Amino acid sequence: MTASYIKNGETLVLDSQACIGCGACVDVCPHGVFILEAGKARIDRRGACMECGACARNCPVAALAVEAGVGCAGAIILGKLRGTAPSCGGEAGCGSGKGTACC
Ligand code: SF4
Ligand code: SF4
Repeated sequence: MTASYIKNGETLVLDSQACIGCGACVDVCPHGVFILEAGKARIDRRGACMECGACARNCPVAALAVEAGVGCAGAIILGKLRGTAPSCGGEAGCGSGKGTACC
């Protein structure tokens, strides 16, 4: 039997042409997904992305897109373990302030 895994960061898209290298995504990403290189953001650790949406919300030129929420695997697993609704307890640091798998 073949195991299947959730691929973190699958929906994250960076438009390098649009990027102005402001560094906001580097600053707000709680998982260090981006680095700045030659005045542009680059996705350095796609697998670390939990699709919280913080980078896309803070990019001033809409150079980032992500289907926020689909990758909140930790919150979903935690909810299952606790028998509750999906909840990250705010630990995800996504900035939504809701502490749920909502963003
Ligand atoms: S969606 Fe969240 S975790 Fe993923 S790159 Fe953006 S800020 Fe980082
Ligand atoms: S926030 Fe947007 S414009 Fe700023 S570095 Fe990241 S992708 Fe580029």
